[in-house]
Amino acid sequence: MTEFHCPTKIYTGANALEALRTFTARRVLVVTDSFFSKNGKALKLGRMIPNAQVEIFDKVTPDPEAALAAQGAALCRRFAPELLIALGGGSPMDCAKAIRLAYGEPLTFIAIPTTSGSGSEMTSFSILTHNAVKHPLVDPALRPDAAILDESLLRQLPSSLIADTGMDLFAHCLEALVAKNRSLCTDALAMLAAKTVLLNLEASFRGDVTVRGSIHEAASMAGIAFDNAGLGVCHALAHAIGGAFHVPHGRLCAMLLPGVIAFHTEEGVGQYAELARFCGLTAATDRLAVRSLSMTITRLQRTLLLPQNLAQAGVSKEQWQEKEEQILQAALLDPCCKTDPGTVTRQAIVEILRTVRP
Ligand SMILES: [Zn+2]
Repeated sequence: MTEFHCPTKIYTGANALEALRTFTARRVLVVTDSFFSKNGKALKLGRMIPNAQVEIFDKVTPDPEAALAAQGAALCRRFAPELLIALGGGSPMDCAKAIRLAYGEPLTFIAIPTTSGSGSEMTSFSILTHNAVKHPLVDPALRPDAAILDESLLRQLPSSLIADTGMDLFAHCLEALVAKNRSLCTDALAMLAAKTVLLNLEASFRGDVTVRGSIHEAASMAGIAFDNAGLGVCHALAHAIGGAFHVPHGRLCAMLLPGVIAFHTEEGVGQYAELARFCGLTAATDRLAVRSLSMTITRLQRTLLLPQNLAQAGVSKEQWQEKEEQILQAALLDPCCKTDPGTVTRQAIVEILRTVRP
């Protein structure tokens, strides 16, 4: 039996941010990073809630620490917000989710993503860092009540961020497609989201803002897909390596994907081949289609100027050796392994890591 949940209301398309005017609250807390507080966007969006008093929590940094969520929850106890807005990429959204959970009082929670990758606006996941280890929190209460997908927020995105987040989004599709709790509902979302990325990511990277709205929706679609189907060993490893070395999550996922696809030779071949054909990659057999998909990922990585392995991402052999055991342990304990279609053993992880380690 599988279940499918999508309780989050999605506002999308031009001027989607106008939806903020339809909410009511006396006190609004906006959780964001310093970029959106300094440029005034956080306050401006908070003030779109009619007659609300607005407070900003702008301490979020990449890979947010669990302690930050505790600070935000303390602010909630003083300010007693009726509406919580998460504004930013995956980190502010993950932090806001943890704040909501730690605070525990009822409030309306709106996620406004400003990058297109994590899908956090749709999921019951929040990734927090503690003692250099990334811990995924999974709780249905973490799903936002509403997500606002407004492409006007994407015009100034730096190309490197487009590359990283786009490959994270692609990894969500690939993992959801083969994960243990997949269903036709999640397949449909993952397939179309993956195709949207393959067709448009390079254009977005080169500065074409017209394709960014569709990639933004694809990120949410992939979020719904993996929230229901589960993720796998690619994310378990990306969390473990990212916690140790702070390499951006999306570029870790991208470099791990070919090794993960090879690991799923038996379980994943039919699904991967179907995706390859859906994306227009023709091949005589399923195995050739999967190879073609793998090569397409590697090519895309090069086009997006992403590192192909950890050495290129700036991790030295010595740094790796010092942290290798910690990474192996953290990956094996990561809850994403539970929904991987393969048997994730220590040996399997060592084999996958062989493709990226310095
Ligand atoms: Zn991810």
